[in-house]
Amino acid sequence: MTRKRTRESLEKLLTDNCPRCEGRRVVKSVPTLAAEVLRGIQREAVSKSAGDMLIVKLNRKSRATCTIMARRISRHLSSGCQRR
Ligand SMILES: [Zn+2]
Repeated sequence: MTRKRTRESLEKLLTDNCPRCEGRRVVKSVPTLAAEVLRGIQREAVSKSAGDMLIVKLNRKSRATCTIMARRISRHLSSGCQRR
């Protein structure tokens, strides 16, 4: 696979056609945004104490994707992977 083709398939995986300009441009896909949100939450969580609250506001589509990914991360963390 050529480098160009790899980049194109990666872009296809990470982006969606922009709904506002009817696909003339691309925007980050919902799973890509969800991954960024979750990384941000994990980054913030490091400096929080138990019992602290972190409020994240998302639209419905992003919320559904984030919930699925958060469950996966939670399972990963509860399996003991966060401890070194
Ligand atoms: Zn657009």
